[in-house]
Amino acid sequence: MSFNALKQTYDKCIKCPQLYETRTQVVFGAGNKNADVLFIGEAPGASEDKNGIPFCGMSGKVLSELLNTINLSKEDIFITNTILCRPPNNRNPDKEEVNNCRERLDKLIEVMQPKVIVTIGNFATDRIIGKTGIKTIRGKVFKTIINGKEITVIPVVHPASYLYSGRNPEMFELMKKDFQAIANQNNQHRLQ
Ligand code: URA
Repeated sequence: MSFNALKQTYDKCIKCPQLYETRTQVVFGAGNKNADVLFIGEAPGASEDKNGIPFCGMSGKVLSELLNTINLSKEDIFITNTILCRPPNNRNPDKEEVNNCRERLDKLIEVMQPKVIVTIGNFATDRIIGKTGIKTIRGKVFKTIINGKEITVIPVVHPASYLYSGRNPEMFELMKKDFQAIANQNNQHRLQ
């Protein structure tokens, strides 16, 4: 299946009755569909639901700043979320919604064949490597098998946590270190 065909398949998805009722649109993803690095967030928020682009609000600005520290931009990577549609009032995605979106995310990974997956926050990390406790596992390098292929996975703290902290500078320094781990893995894969 091609990337565009996959996108089209989910454009009008109705698998989650509540999300389908309340969303403005499906937020499939944005960036470079041939990228080696795939970022996976939690779920679209209000700005994302309005614009159809993941991480286009405040958290997205922080993400761009972090990418800049490793000489990358949002155009160099691809970004999607654990689920495609905004949960009402930005509540957490529920288990059923994550499961309803499972096949879509697996297929995206199959179509894109990224070398490195960056999971942003606990929801995406749990979905991809079955682990939570982001503060402990952040910036560490994991290997997992997806669609029969080994993929490198790096969990990072969600930019929203940094915003909730009132932009704690120490937290930002730690996040920059986690992004350095992404740059290292990306470079290693490029040299292979
Ligand atoms: N937070 C997320 O997890 N995803 C987005 O797309 C925006 C904010």
